[in-house]
Formats: sequence, structure tokens, C-alpha cells
Amino acid sequence: MSYAAFYRRSIEAPEAFWAEQAKLIDWQIPPRQILDESRPPFVQWFAGGTTNLCHNAVDRHLAQRADQPALIAVSTETGTERTYSFRELHGEVQRVAAGLAALGVGKGDRVLIYMPMIPEAAFTMLACARLGAIHCVVFGGFASVSLASRIEDATPKVVVSADAGSRGGKVIAYKPLLDEAIRLSTHKPGAVLLFDRGLAPMGLVEGRDHLAAPFLEKHRDARVPCTWLDATDISYTIYTSGTTGRPKGVQRDVGGYAVALAASMKHIFDGRAGETYFSTSDIGWVVGHSYIVYGPLIAGMATLMYEGLPTQGLNRQPDGGIWWQLVEKYQVTVMFSAPTAVRVLKKQDPALLKKYDLSSLRALFLAGEPLDEPTARWISDGLGVPIIDNYWQTESGWPILTVANGVERTPSRFGSPGIPMYGYKVKILHESTGEELKGANEKGVVVIEGPTPPGFMQTVWKDDERFVNTYWKSVPGKLVYSTFDWGIRDEDGYYYILGRTDDVINVAGHRLGTREIEESISGHAKVAEVAVVGVADALKGQVAMAFVVPRDGAVLGDAQAALALEGEVMKQVADQLGALARPSRVHFVGVLPKTRSGKLLRRAIQAVCEGRDPGDLTTIEDPAALRQIRQLLGVQE
Ligand code: AMP
Repeated sequence: MSYAAFYRRSIEAPEAFWAEQAKLIDWQIPPRQILDESRPPFVQWFAGGTTNLCHNAVDRHLAQRADQPALIAVSTETGTERTYSFRELHGEVQRVAAGLAALGVGKGDRVLIYMPMIPEAAFTMLACARLGAIHCVVFGGFASVSLASRIEDATPKVVVSADAGSRGGKVIAYKPLLDEAIRLSTHKPGAVLLFDRGLAPMGLVEGRDHLAAPFLEKHRDARVPCTWLDATDISYTIYTSGTTGRPKGVQRDVGGYAVALAASMKHIFDGRAGETYFSTSDIGWVVGHSYIVYGPLIAGMATLMYEGLPTQGLNRQPDGGIWWQLVEKYQVTVMFSAPTAVRVLKKQDPALLKKYDLSSLRALFLAGEPLDEPTARWISDGLGVPIIDNYWQTESGWPILTVANGVERTPSRFGSPGIPMYGYKVKILHESTGEELKGANEKGVVVIEGPTPPGFMQTVWKDDERFVNTYWKSVPGKLVYSTFDWGIRDEDGYYYILGRTDDVINVAGHRLGTREIEESISGHAKVAEVAVVGVADALKGQVAMAFVVPRDGAVLGDAQAALALEGEVMKQVADQLGALARPSRVHFVGVLPKTRSGKLLRRAIQAVCEGRDPGDLTTIEDPAALRQIRQLLGVQE
């Protein structure tokens, strides 16, 4: 079937289309109703059906591939490498599930996972899925304040963590950050389960903290059956940044997610059972949920979990060829990474791309941020396999725009992530009138018309109203889902993404809210006011830059005091939110550019930082404010 016909069917006959896709997974009871869209914008997929993500990822493969690799854990931080077969994974997951159950975890309870990229993190996610508990994975690079707000919102019964993560040989102790986060949160988890890697000492809180090794030993050979869940039950929440300082818990279902992933593995990633999938992302991000843990396993593939830099070998010495070495060794057929990682590799000796036998590899998928043409060409020439850009969001759970080579080979276009995927009614609307822009190359907001396909977020955790108001009411007069991305479509239907319409920035493929960073900075005693903007960066895509009005005006004329305060502000952000959010620079100014009604002109600041025209400034209160920023940065008017 041509992709055009496949797509058309998904839009014109969604029930028939998705009923077909639903056969890709195991159901305990088959769905009664494929699509229920009686309460827009809420959608229910596969109501009446019961299934389980862990069953589909692990148990159902035991009959045919129990002794085949399921999870390959490689850490160039600790120099370790271990393969778990489906049978072994089944055992590990049940042990953790039994341990969690012993701590009182059952269906619907939240388990917050704050862990580095170790196999135990995947065991824990799958154990939650097995029990019907809702996991909330928090990226290990986040620090205590970010973690505290997530604990507060998720109200977990149990937190699962580890002594430490490691990055480039530098140990990052997690336990003190977790203890501080629990101290800051009004919600206190009943128990904390801790995996000890022997990297950092841990002080244990009596009665609350349990060391995983002795605790789980009691459950060594436990048998824990999968809890059958309604397709519409909640599988997990994952927090993401938006326009406000408060992160949103993106909530996902069970059945729709399982079907969406199974379908995407077939139609988009073209990954086959018995092969190896390697995603370089982290379990703390949506890519890690969909395409490190659940997607590949549901497809019966082995998934390679990697802890470490792209430029570090197993002997912990610099090695820019480590990923290609792993592709050769584990016969990886499908690989998934981010443009930033490729830009890092581009600085390495290109001969490293030719050193290994990469003939197993069929495609490299890149997502998370715009893929620039030089980067795409460099890696495409080096690997000699298709480079497939794909555009999606935490909210969607799987690609919105790309090409579905599993359905029909479709050429990619440099600079474009591709065309709408089956199930997605993607449109471009005028920002203020909401009118659909049908012409080629007309810039507008990229939106999705309901019903959103399986796998798409159900709602914002505990906050249906926020879901509707934030995502579905931003375009006047229309109930459509806004991606908050600008985009255009060319005459052949290929889309191009042109950056965010809101205050979200994208640092090395990681989404951060400038408001969260501003809140952290404005908490500093010497700061009166602050604006944070994302500024284009050759390596990371974007970096955060802060403009601060100091309480003490003397800082403005005192270079040494300014440098000291810049250091303090940077440290505060790194300590509270994590190193990722630390601004690349903190500039001190006397006044921030605002409109007469007091709104910060972040976009104008950003434009000035990037040497662009700040646009219409008729509403600016004080034009000197922008002039000062120009002078600071040495940019011409
Ligand atoms: P996240 O929710 O962290 O996955 O971030 C989603 C955002 O990242 C999108 O709204 C886009 O702004 C950006 N993004 C993701 N993938 C792409 C891509 N392939 N091309 C351009 N931007 C992307």
C-alpha cells in the first residue's frame, strides 16, 4: 500500500485502521470500542480492552525468544557491559515488582524513579507496569528543586533511586539531592528503595530507606503475575516544561500507548524481532520511555541501554568511536540519537566512522531539536545509511512528522522532519486569526486536530482543566492541539519546524522552561529581576542566557562583583535545577525591556542576542533597555 493511502485510511477510517494496528499486541480481553471521542478534546482508545505493557514487552516473548538478548546494558562510566535475555529480564522485573509490592505498591500508586542509566531503572519501570503502578521517571540530571516539585505533584508512595550517576568520569551523588528534595516537598514518600553502585556513600533514613540488594534478595525467585489493566488506565506520567514555572505531568494510557509503539516500531522504525535497537537517549526523557524501554521490547528486539558520553571508551579513555564499536559488536539495525550528539561526534576523527563494520545498520533516526543540514550531510555521508529526522514531543509519545519507510520507502528532505504520520491531522494555522494556512511556505503555528491518535497524552496529571486550557485553547475560536512550534509546509507537503512559539528552550535536545530558570534565579537574594532567553548555539542548538537586574546597582559598574555574582547565580541554578539549566552567561543590566503593560519582551531580547531584528517595538516602555543589551553583547543596531 502506498503511504498516501495508508495515511488517508488512518484519517478517514480511524476505527478500522487502529483496530488493525491493535492486533500487533496481546490483549487479555480485546477492546470493545476502538475510539470514543464523545468528550473532546479527551479521547479514549480501545475501551473495554485489557492488557499490560510489561506483558507485551517481556512475558509474551518468552515462548519464542526466552534466551535471546532483551536488554544490553553498557556503561563507559563504570566500564561494564552486561546482556540480559528475555528470561533473565523476566526474573529481574518480577523481583523488583515483588519488592515494590512488599512496600505496599499496587495498581494506581505512583512510584517516582530518579535513576541513572542502569538496567535496574528499566527493571523498575517494567515492574511498575507489571503491577499497574504509575511510574514517574525524573531525569537524573535534575537537581533538588526540580525533583521536589515533581515529588510534590506526583505524590509517590515509593521513590526508587541510586547512590549516584556518573558523567565523563565525574560522580554525581543522587542521594543528597533526593534527601533535600524530600525535605523541600510537603509530600513525603513512605519508602525509598536505593540501588547502591558503590560510587558514592549514602546515609540511610531509618524506617524509610531500603538498600535494594538485601531487600530484593528476599524476593529472588518471586513470581508476580501481570495485573491486567484497562486500556484506558494510566501507565505513567512524565514531567515536561511549558510556559509557566510549574512543570506539567504528561499522562499516558496503557492500551493506546502499547498499540502506538508497536505500530511505530513496524511502520516507522522498521525494527524486527531478534534484532538490536540502540537509542542514545536517557530514560528520563520521553524517547527513553518509548524507544529505550517499551518500543523495542514490545517489538521483540534487544534494546541497548548506554550510560556515558559519546566520546568515551569502555576502558574509560577518550574514544569517539564507541557508539560505532557497539553497533558492530551488537549488530545494531536501528539507531536513535539527537542532532547534538552528532554535532559532538563531528569534532572527532571522521576515520572513526569507517573503522567498524556498520553493515547491520539500516537507519539512524534523529530527533529532539532541529537537524541542521551540515550535520545531517556529515553523518549521512559518514554512515552511508538513511538519516531519518523525526519531530515529536513528550506529549505525543511517538513521531508526529517523519517518513514511514516500513510502509513505503519515502525520500527524506534535508531540513525537514518529514510528513504527517498516520493518525495525525497536522495543520498550520495563523497565530492570531486561527485561519488555516493552506499555501506553501506560509508560516504559522503547527497544530493537531482531534481526535489525537493512540499513544498521545490523555491529559495533564490531576489537571484536566490545565490540559484543555494550555494545549487546546491557544488558537482563537478553534479546539485544536497546539504544538507551540512555528512551522511551514512546502509545496510537496513536507513540514519544516522553525522554533517554539512559547518560552520553552531546547538545550542539547532537552526541553527546558525559561520560567523555571527565572524562578530559580529570582530566588537569589542579590537579584531584583531577571529574564532568561534561549540563544542559538552551534553545538547545543540553544543555550540559556540570563539578564539580571541586581538589587545593588553598584554591581553594574564593578566587573569583579559582577563576575562573582554571575558565578553565584550559575551555581544556584545548577544546584536547584541541574547543570543542564545553568545559563551560559549571566549579564547584568539596569533595566529589562518590557512593554508598557509590564510584560517582559523575551523575544526581543532573544532577537538582539542572535543579531536579528527585534521586530515591532511600539509597545516598549524604555527603548534604552534593549540598547543596553546590545552594547553589552557588542551587537550593532
Ligand atoms: P520534548 O517534549 O522534550 O521532546 O520537546 C519537544 C520539542 O522539541 C518540540 O516541540 C520541538 O520544538 C522540538 N523538536 C523535537 N523534535 C524536533 C525535530 N525533529 N525538529 C525540530 N524540532 C524538534
